[in-house]
Amino acid sequence: MTAFEGISAVILDMDGVIYRGDRPVRAAARAVKRLRDSGKKLVFSTNNSASTRAAYVRKLARMGIPAREHEIVTSGYATAIYLQKHTPHARIYVVGENGLRSELKRAGLNLVPIKKPEKATHVVVGLDRTINYGKIAGGLRALLAGAEFIATNADATYPTERGLSPGAGATVGALAGCSGRNPSLVIGKPSPYMIEIALELLGTKPSETAIVGDRLDTDIRVGKKMGLRTILVLSGACTKREADRAKNTEMAPDFVFKNIAEAVVS
Ligand SMILES: [Mg+2]
Repeated sequence: MTAFEGISAVILDMDGVIYRGDRPVRAAARAVKRLRDSGKKLVFSTNNSASTRAAYVRKLARMGIPAREHEIVTSGYATAIYLQKHTPHARIYVVGENGLRSELKRAGLNLVPIKKPEKATHVVVGLDRTINYGKIAGGLRALLAGAEFIATNADATYPTERGLSPGAGATVGALAGCSGRNPSLVIGKPSPYMIEIALELLGTKPSETAIVGDRLDTDIRVGKKMGLRTILVLSGACTKREADRAKNTEMAPDFVFKNIAEAVVS
């Protein structure tokens, strides 16, 4: 486990590292078990805000990976924690899926009814696979009434078993396109917020923490920015050629492996 030498905690990106869509990456469960058996604390992270942490616990369990809810950080959960900390009285209009709505509610935040977008102080936008004209119109009305524009993340795409699918960037883009405004805050990677929350949950310092991810522009970029050890795997969004091109840039990973199984046996 050369890549993990001196490391006591690991932040594992899920999409493209543990699975693609509903299909697990080869030997991922065994690799995660090996990390646990060697005493490392784990956090599973995803920029995806569509599902709750409980849903991710179930998804991982189906792939033979036991995990607890407090080991999961989604961009939806991170957004909820951020708002709870900074603007607990926010009135939020959500353009996103039910998973995002439940995380915000669970954090004690107020959601405004779909029919009353003008009452919102914040519009929170995430991946929405049932986006339609009415939802975009609601978000626009809230923004025109002066609400702050917050994105759970801005990923253009995410990997599924059928290849790349439109990510939160599609929803954020729809609202940016009609309002002429961009989000004033993006919570997901490469912003620092999700990693800060993960480090808080792990109770470790950046120097003893590694991040394993499949994207240079999110996982590796934020890992380097925050002083974590960075491990890129080529089982998701990034090709070997892109990894090679990142050498000597601010996105150059400390280690590159074909997949997480290879990283763990290194
Ligand atoms: Mg990923």
